[in-house]
Amino acid sequence: MINWQGKHVTVAGLGVSGVPAAKVLRGLGARVTVVNDGDDERARTQAAELQALGVTVRLGDGDTLPEGTELIVTAPGWKPDKPLFAAAEKAGVEVWGDVELAWRLRGPDAAPWLAVTGTNGKTTTVQMLASILTAAGLRTAAVGNIGVSLLDAVLGEERYDVLAVELSSYQLHWAPSLRAHSAAVLNLAPDHLDWHGSMEAYAADKGRVYEGNRVACVYNAADRATEDLVREADVEEGCRAIGFTLGTPGPSQLGVVEGILVDRAFVENRQKNAQELAEVSDVNPPAPHNIANALAAAALARAYGVPAKAVRDGLRAFTPDAHRIAHVADVDGVAYVDDSKATNTHAAEASLAAYESIVWIAGGLAKGATFDELVAKSAKRLRGAVLIGADRELIREALARHAPEVPVVDLDRTDTGAMRAAVQEARGLARTGDTVLLAPACASMDMFANYNKRGDAFADAVRELGSGEG
Ligand code: ADP
Repeated sequence: MINWQGKHVTVAGLGVSGVPAAKVLRGLGARVTVVNDGDDERARTQAAELQALGVTVRLGDGDTLPEGTELIVTAPGWKPDKPLFAAAEKAGVEVWGDVELAWRLRGPDAAPWLAVTGTNGKTTTVQMLASILTAAGLRTAAVGNIGVSLLDAVLGEERYDVLAVELSSYQLHWAPSLRAHSAAVLNLAPDHLDWHGSMEAYAADKGRVYEGNRVACVYNAADRATEDLVREADVEEGCRAIGFTLGTPGPSQLGVVEGILVDRAFVENRQKNAQELAEVSDVNPPAPHNIANALAAAALARAYGVPAKAVRDGLRAFTPDAHRIAHVADVDGVAYVDDSKATNTHAAEASLAAYESIVWIAGGLAKGATFDELVAKSAKRLRGAVLIGADRELIREALARHAPEVPVVDLDRTDTGAMRAAVQEARGLARTGDTVLLAPACASMDMFANYNKRGDAFADAVRELGSGEG
C-alpha cells in the first residue's frame, strides 16, 4: 500500500483524466500540483474547481517540473519527448498514466481486467465482450475510453466481477506495472506514429498489454505482428497464446467454419475438438472485420471461463455504437451506410471490404497517411468516389494511380454543407444494389467538430433524399 499522505504528486494535464486524478489523489491526502500547457477559459474553470479542494494549479507551463515532485501522473496524450519527462527522468521521478494510477489504486479483491487494444475495433470489441460477460450473469462494465472511467470502476461503489477494458497505445505506454488476466491485440497498422516516434515504438507500446498476462494472450492469426508481440511478452507460467481467424481454426484458435463461430482452444467437452459459439449472423453487423472483433471478444470471455451459450446470447444482445458501419436507409434500391468512425486507412479498408459495389465518400484530414494501398486493395469494389475535405487531393491522386477507370467527383469543398452535396453526387453515381459508404479514411476536424457530427450530417442528407427533398 502506498502512503499518499503528504506525497507530492504532479498531475500533468487537466481534462478528462487529469481532473478526476487530481481529485482522487487529493482525497487520499496527497499534496497535488496540476501543470497544464493551456491557459484558456475551460482550463481556468477546471483550475478554480481544483483549487477549492486545495490543489495547486499552474496554467500555461506544462514543461517545468514542480519542486519536490515525487511522482507524475500524466494525461495519456502527453508525448514522451516533452521536457517535463526529461526533467522527471533526471530527477528520478516515476511517471504513471491514468491507467497505471487506476491499476495501483485498485483494492486487494479487485475485479480482474480483460484488456483490449489494437489500431481499430477496440471500442466495438470491448462492448461485445461486456455484453458476453453480462449474458453469463457476471457483474461487469466496458471501461477505458468508453462507458465508465477506469478510476470510477476501481474506486466507485459498484462491485464488479470482471472488467472489459479498452486501452490505447498512449495509455499502455504509461502503464508499466499493468498485469491483465488476459488481453487481445486486434490488429496493428501505422497510426499515431508522430506520437510514438516509430512503428516499432508503437507496436512495443501495444505489446505491453500482454506483459504479465495470467491466462491468455489473444492475437490475430491474420496479422503476424500481433503474434510476434505475444512471443516477445513476458507472461505468467501457464498463460496461453490463443489466435482468432476468419478461416478454419488451428488447435489453439477460434475461427469460422461454414458460417459458425467455433472455438478449438477452450473446449468444454473433451470429446469434441471444437465448440460451436454462435452463427455469423449473430454478429452485428456481420462484416468480416466485425466477425474478427467478435472472435477476439469470445476468446477473452472464454479465457475467463464463460460458457459457449453466453457468447451467442451476448453477441445477439450487442448493438454497435453510432457511426460504425451503421445502415442509415435504403433509397431507390441503394443502401446508405455511415462509417464515419473510419478515421484512418486501416479502418476504411475494413469497411470497404464488407461491400461489393460501392460509391465511396471519403476525405478529411489525412494525418500524414498515404492512400495507395487502401485504394489499390479496394479498387475492384468501387463504382465511384466522391471526395470532400482538406486532404482529398491525396485520395484523388491514389485513385488516378490505382483505379483510373473509377469515376471520381472532387467536390473541392470543406464547408459543412459539402456532405449534403456529396450524398447527392453519390446518388447520381450509384446503381440499384450498390452501397453508398461514408468511410472517410481521414479525421473530421477540417469540416466537423468530430466524427459524430460528420456521420450525423451524412445521415441527415440521406434522410432528405429519402423524403424526396434531395
Ligand atoms: P477503436 O475504438 O479502435 O477506434 P471502433 O470499434 O470504434 O475502434 O471502430 C472504429 C472503426 O474501425 C469502425 O468504424 C470500422 O471502420 C473500423 N474497424 C472496426 N473493427 C475493425 C477491425 N477489426 N479491423 C479493421 N477495422 C476495424
